[in-house]
Amino acid sequence: AYDVLVVGGGPAGAAAAIYAARKGIRTGVAAERFGGQVLDTLAIENFISVKETEGPKLAAALEEHVKQYDVEIMNLQTAEKLITAKEQGGLHEVLFANGASLKAKTLIVATGARWRKMNVPGELEYANKGVAYCPHCDGPLFKGKPVAVIGGGNSGVEAAIDLAGIVSHVTLIEFDTALRADAVLQRKLMSLPNVTVLTNALTTEVVGDGNKVSGLVYKDRASGEERTVELAGIFVQIGLVPNTDWLKGSIELSGRGEVIIDERGQTSSPGVFAAGDVTTVPYKQIVIAMGEGAKASLSAFDHLIRITAP
Ligand code: FAD
Repeated sequence: AYDVLVVGGGPAGAAAAIYAARKGIRTGVAAERFGGQVLDTLAIENFISVKETEGPKLAAALEEHVKQYDVEIMNLQTAEKLITAKEQGGLHEVLFANGASLKAKTLIVATGARWRKMNVPGELEYANKGVAYCPHCDGPLFKGKPVAVIGGGNSGVEAAIDLAGIVSHVTLIEFDTALRADAVLQRKLMSLPNVTVLTNALTTEVVGDGNKVSGLVYKDRASGEERTVELAGIFVQIGLVPNTDWLKGSIELSGRGEVIIDERGQTSSPGVFAAGDVTTVPYKQIVIAMGEGAKASLSAFDHLIRITAP
């Protein structure tokens, strides 16, 4: 059995694996896709101390750094179920889609999250070419240009307020007849001069010139009419979905399906820790996921020295 088994190979999982291995304990990492969301990212300009890099480059660097240590990397492994230890100090077991199972004294869950997509024509084609999911990451790329935000919940309205200070104009598009964000955020949004809010509007297509986004088409649900808005960017803010299906029934999840952790990364099951976008920790970013991964790993080590005390 492993002393520490990390499930997930994004920034959080990589950091957790390195911190565990540096303690000289038996460490394994199992991941569906080593690199995680970073693989889908083009420019990264907010990974502190690196002025600019690209997702695939950072993902390769993560793997290279993990490989410096005595860590067993199991790539292309999808976890399907967690069976937590029955008694204090017992082994946790993870079952994988290929039928394999791995046991560990401590487990670090770092399976990340994925942005919910609109599933309209053009969205995938123009991903990273105007279609964006993270305003903290990509907002500055659209400085002085018009953008849309899709989604009128808290994250959409927060994104619109944030972007309004950078871009020339923000069109916020909400499917429902009213925004769902907190009243205080809605008031702030309505006070901004360069924001237009469209409710009862369904985005039907992302349009572009073959290289980048030039606008979007939406249907006015009241009249049934289709209209086009010219834009340089589209921020899709209709939900970040944590990859926790495999954890249902084994550890405590929040209403949004995120793994609930305390300030040490401890979950509801002793010896099971979690880090990064899969958890309730606010702000889903690379530097944050890495810090959380390191923290969960140090907590796992701390747990190990206690359960193995004579
Ligand atoms: P993830 O990166 O999601 O990694 C999760 C890992 O778990 C992956 O290896 C995955 O394959 C694996 N996994 C998932 N389910 C299972 C399972 N059932 N079994 C086994 N393995 C599984 N952040 C920034 O700081 N700056 C940016 O510029 C930036 N740009 C972004 C651009 C895009 C398009 C996207 C999508 C995100 C961007 N982010 C950016 C956010 C950043 O990528 C995430 O915050 C970060 O990757 C989270 O790290 P993580 O390790 O928690 O999860």
